[in-house]
Amino acid sequence: MIIGIDLGTTNSLVAVWDGEAAHLVPNALGRLLTPSVVGLDDHDQLVVGDIARERLQTHPHLTAALFKRHMGSAQSTRLGSRSFRPEELSAMVLRSLKEDVERAYGQPVTEAVISVPAYFSDAQRKATRIAGELAGLKVEKLINEPTAAALAYGLHQKGEATFLVFDLGGGTFDVSVLELFEGVMEVRASAGDNFLGGEDFDDVLVAHFLAAMGGQGLPDHQQPAINQRLRREAQRVRHALGQQPEATFQLREDGREWTLPVSQDKLLSICEPLLERLRAPIERALRDARIKVADLDEVLLVGGTTRMPLVRKLVASLFGRFPAMHLNPDEVIAQGAAIQAALKARDATLEEVVLTDVCPYSLGVEISKQVGTQQQSGHYMPIIERNCVVPVSRVQSVYTLHDNQKQVSVRIYQGESRLVANNIFLGELEVAVPPRPAGEVSLDIRFTYDINGLLEAQVDTPLTGESHRLVIENNPGVLSPAEIAERFAALEALKVHPRDQQVNSALMARLERLYQECLGDLREHIGQLAAHFAAILEGQDERQIRETRGELTARLDAIEQGY
Ligand code: ADP
Ligand code: MG
Repeated sequence: MIIGIDLGTTNSLVAVWDGEAAHLVPNALGRLLTPSVVGLDDHDQLVVGDIARERLQTHPHLTAALFKRHMGSAQSTRLGSRSFRPEELSAMVLRSLKEDVERAYGQPVTEAVISVPAYFSDAQRKATRIAGELAGLKVEKLINEPTAAALAYGLHQKGEATFLVFDLGGGTFDVSVLELFEGVMEVRASAGDNFLGGEDFDDVLVAHFLAAMGGQGLPDHQQPAINQRLRREAQRVRHALGQQPEATFQLREDGREWTLPVSQDKLLSICEPLLERLRAPIERALRDARIKVADLDEVLLVGGTTRMPLVRKLVASLFGRFPAMHLNPDEVIAQGAAIQAALKARDATLEEVVLTDVCPYSLGVEISKQVGTQQQSGHYMPIIERNCVVPVSRVQSVYTLHDNQKQVSVRIYQGESRLVANNIFLGELEVAVPPRPAGEVSLDIRFTYDINGLLEAQVDTPLTGESHRLVIENNPGVLSPAEIAERFAALEALKVHPRDQQVNSALMARLERLYQECLGDLREHIGQLAAHFAAILEGQDERQIRETRGELTARLDAIEQGY
């Protein structure tokens, strides 16, 4: 049996082909989506998925997320006392999905087809293959995500087709134009925005709530716990607005309550700027592929955020037709990977032409931003955006920040996060500037990226005519076979959190998170619930544990919705 895996930035899924259709396989918690979050628990055992996601907030130093963005680089992440490469973190997710299938089908799984974004570079593809190996999976094939979506929709049976895949996930937006011709699938163009996804819609809703509640004594929203709660609430409201015309945004704290009804129309009006940003990548992909909207046979919706009616409506109006959406948009890629696996088993693999002449990462510099009344450093300004066709050369200007500033540090990063701390530091240039009032000295930063992955940064100071240059070799450091064997052994030795306890651990992790989020009486109450549940678990009476779990889950659902 070859399994199909969608190794996503936010969520991952696994599917198998049963001879007739692709079926998604649920995880230990009975859910089809496994958050791409991994960590170590208090007993140094590996946790993956929902439990890890709950712990992201309570145990940040033991938990990692969004590592797909680092694939192909050597950026490692610390979990407790150990450090892991992105391939290893991905391997933990893959291993968990593999075990889900093994448990469901009662047989060992050793082979997989794994999906990767169409723009993934050679190094990123290699890293994904290694992640599979580290998880004990032979990667039969990597499949481009948009190709997988096409397979799920059965487009390969058409013979010839030109179509567009619109993929809006948790944090990224990808548009691909594909052409199927004589049994070969070609990604004709790919464009996107790495800073646009479901989370951005959540941010907009939070900002709307804060603005509406101004002056009403709201607790400090910059406090991490409050911020997290607002974001979760925004996500809940956003999902609810897909089902009903109105939902209420609520925040409870210290016996006080702030509520704001939000209608679908309101959501549409505050999200307008984000929706506007969906247009450019679509136009770019069509232009690069030299295809007109009228030539498209199909438009496919992929990614959880395309479940939002306002996104669907926008797509329908942009393309003058209804997009294909009879499959669940967050499930199609795994399904397509499983179909590819089935074709592979029959030696009938759909061939793909891979697109690799694009810059796979965004490259940029650190800048300061005005936040409220303060200048805050650590922000990222991309100069070359991911997905640009290489070779590419782009220039951006920056300005001095302080009066009589004598020096500017140009710190260069690779990555997709808004904050440089989450990106990969590549190098630095110190540029001396003549003392002038703040903002009067400008620097032109030019980045040139070539086909060999060489980045040349050049900083010109027009005022003095000076120029500085730095060449950075992008060495992603692919692991050697010996290193793979060594890391495989180390990962294998890592004990996995017992799966029969996962439902209980997930509830415990949720209780801990809520305890941390809440204050006052509510916190006290949650503390009691947690202690009660711990005592029930000690008792080892399965029926009692199940009943308590049900009651507590309902109670926590109510608390999280503000009751
Ligand atoms: P990725 O491809 O980034 O791993 P997904 O395709 O699973 O992620 O998309 C995750 C995003 O989908 C999240 O931001 C989530 O809020 C959003 N999402 C999931 N279901 C819904 C829904 N019913 N309504 C709106 N957004 C949704
Ligand atoms: Mg995805």
